[in-house]
Amino acid sequence: MSREFSYAGSPAQIVFGAGSRSKVAEWVVKAGCKRALVLSTPHQKSDAEALAREIGSLACGIFTGATMHTPVEVTEAAMTVVTETGADCVISLGGGSTTGLGKAIAYRTDLLQIVVPTTYAGSEVTPILGQTEGGRKTTVRDAKILPEIVIYDPALTLGLPVAMSVTSGLNAMAHAVEGLYARDRNPISSLMALEGLRAFARSLPVIVNDPQNADARGDALYGAWLCGSVLGTVGMALHHKICHTLGGSFDTPHAETHAVMLPHTAAFNAAAAAPELTEAAAVFGGSIGGGLWDFAKAIGAPLSLKEFGLSEADLDHAASIAVENPYWNPRPIDRDAIRLLLQDAWEGRRPR
Ligand code: NAD
Repeated sequence: MSREFSYAGSPAQIVFGAGSRSKVAEWVVKAGCKRALVLSTPHQKSDAEALAREIGSLACGIFTGATMHTPVEVTEAAMTVVTETGADCVISLGGGSTTGLGKAIAYRTDLLQIVVPTTYAGSEVTPILGQTEGGRKTTVRDAKILPEIVIYDPALTLGLPVAMSVTSGLNAMAHAVEGLYARDRNPISSLMALEGLRAFARSLPVIVNDPQNADARGDALYGAWLCGSVLGTVGMALHHKICHTLGGSFDTPHAETHAVMLPHTAAFNAAAAAPELTEAAAVFGGSIGGGLWDFAKAIGAPLSLKEFGLSEADLDHAASIAVENPYWNPRPIDRDAIRLLLQDAWEGRRPR
């Protein structure tokens, strides 16, 4: 077999383990910083306050206004606090929304970022920032955006509600599935993707029945790191494009949209990327699309776009937007096929 690939390892420091949140102060100091601004969403304010107390005089303030899609107005409000407090680093405690705010600050200031993830979104290991201005979402990729230090503590995910654990997990798994057939995949990204899928296949069913299961929580967060790393290193295709379209134009919820679409986009690409998907398909009973749908159903994931208030007429519009700017996908994309795929996802039908 002839091999040809290009591989660049991510320069981030990863610290993984139960109880590792107690190492945040140590890593602020190791990074040469003295004034950390702790970031969170309003929902996680008390967790941010607790973290700030834990790191004591190393915390220079808290900003708890992080929200979905990183609106520029929120970043500007946070930038005022950065300036007022003289912060020399940010600590983002939370999911992709909080990480997004930390990235937006770092993109403008190059401040060091420490991320303490509490969902499985994977944003903490990517150099990608999605932000919105005037309702328009733009995506930038820059070395300054990649967080320098990520502290994964599964104990912080014990309280992640089951429904969010399921959708966030499927969101992460989508990075892995698309990474497996990415045009710029490499042996390391493919190993990480498969291992990440296996970790979620093992852990999510356990979490659904026993959300406090520490081993399963650890396994899922490990999967999140792996799948997020894949997203950070290789290009995505149809699945991410469609989810971006649905979220951007119809305001469908982020992780839930990924959860509904994944079996359908995987099935769409199954034949065109059969060799790349063989091992992943085996994890889900032999058929990647149908297998992922069965898995999603068994763990109680949302299965239809209808549930998000989308109408059938919206599907016509979504199909047109999704094919507007051509992009690479293992199977060529045409509007009729995308419209059909969207119909199945809207109805919540098992992929053909
Ligand atoms: P989120 O960060 O928006 O979190 C959703 C809600 O859950 C928030 O209120 C949050 O405070 C709360 N929450 C988070 N962790 C919790 C926990 N352990 N217990 C209880 N509540 C908790 O959701 P998300 O799915 O992690 O992130 C979605 C956002 O991340 C989207 O805007 C998406 O575009 C972005 N994202 C970006 C990338 C990237 O590489 N740039 C990758 C993935 C996702």
